[in-house]
Amino acid sequence: MKCHRCHGLMVVDYFIDIANSGHLWLCGWRCVSCGDVVDPEIMQHRRIQRARLARMARSLTRKARKTFDLERLSA
Ligand SMILES: [Zn+2]
Repeated sequence: MKCHRCHGLMVVDYFIDIANSGHLWLCGWRCVSCGDVVDPEIMQHRRIQRARLARMARSLTRKARKTFDLERLSA
């Protein structure tokens, strides 16, 4: 797995959950180059954000196509 920030090597690491969310130890990934940490919850949030951005991009693309069709018909 590559780091999304620096494309460095991510290694499996274990972290203590100090917020006490019910899991004392968390398994995640840590970048050996920049120290970025990713755990399953962070990855889930990123997937949700990517899905939202993809929906917005599709919506904007549809609107742009409609605008293009209107311009083409009037020309
Ligand atoms: Zn990194």
